[in-house]
Amino acid sequence: MISGKVAIVTGASSGIGYATALALAKAGAKVAAGARRTDKLESLEKQIAGSGGEIMIHKLDVTKKPDCDAFVDAVVKKWGTVDILVNNAGLMPLSFFKNLKVDEWDQMIDVNIKGVLYCTAAAIPHMIAKKSGHIVNISSVAGRVVFPAGSVYCATKHAVAAFSEGIRQELSQRANIRVTCIEPGVVATELLNTITDKSLEKFVQASKQMDSLQSEDIANSILFAVESPAHMNVNEILIRPTNQER
Ligand code: NDP
Repeated sequence: MISGKVAIVTGASSGIGYATALALAKAGAKVAAGARRTDKLESLEKQIAGSGGEIMIHKLDVTKKPDCDAFVDAVVKKWGTVDILVNNAGLMPLSFFKNLKVDEWDQMIDVNIKGVLYCTAAAIPHMIAKKSGHIVNISSVAGRVVFPAGSVYCATKHAVAAFSEGIRQELSQRANIRVTCIEPGVVATELLNTITDKSLEKFVQASKQMDSLQSEDIANSILFAVESPAHMNVNEILIRPTNQER
């Protein structure tokens, strides 16, 4: 059970991160929510505090290592520890590689990969010191399969899956740190808004019309993993909408 545990969620200003922060708080965790849009974090804070939950919010850009360190430091200063880290912040500016959207590749690598590494690096010394903790990384179906216009995004999500398995092998037995990699299919969030490649307009519209997963579905799967008994490490959860083929 996670009542009283300290949970950090990155990218908590919308979508899966927002829903996860709500779900963790409802289950009794103290939730530290980070993202760049502080107005959205303030709404989350009101919602959680308004229903009696414990929350702190922090302006966070996961591409900046000092930001990640400062966030975790602030959490430890306030609540003394970190029990759960949900590395959720991410973006998906899909594009055909030939269109050479180099800035978007850089952004995806910085947020989807380096952000996960920086936040994990900030949190694990605290987990190792007390020989307990749980890291939840949000990869994707794109961390399992590859599709056109997704070469770089899929590469970042494959990296998250590989990193999750690597740190699980390093830290689970030695330091009693559990690691879970969540791999959602299409979820109805703001993620599609990060696509600027006009040739993907049809794909974007089709995705918006799908009977997608909801952020709460993913939040519930995260809750399942973190609420599992201590001897049980849910390594991976792959979830697609019923009508998603690949
Ligand atoms: P949203 O766009 O709704 O949420 C993305 C979150 O990431 C926002 O809170 C955003 O906050 C945050 N973020 C982006 N850049 C940064 C940054 N530099 N520093 C800190 N936070 C940042 O999309 P989702 O909820 O869908 O995405 C959450 C995760 O789920 C991502 O990793 C995504 O790849 C993954 N995923 C999503 C799927 C989907 O279909 N929606 C499917 C599979 C995986 P802010 O802009 O305020 O900083």
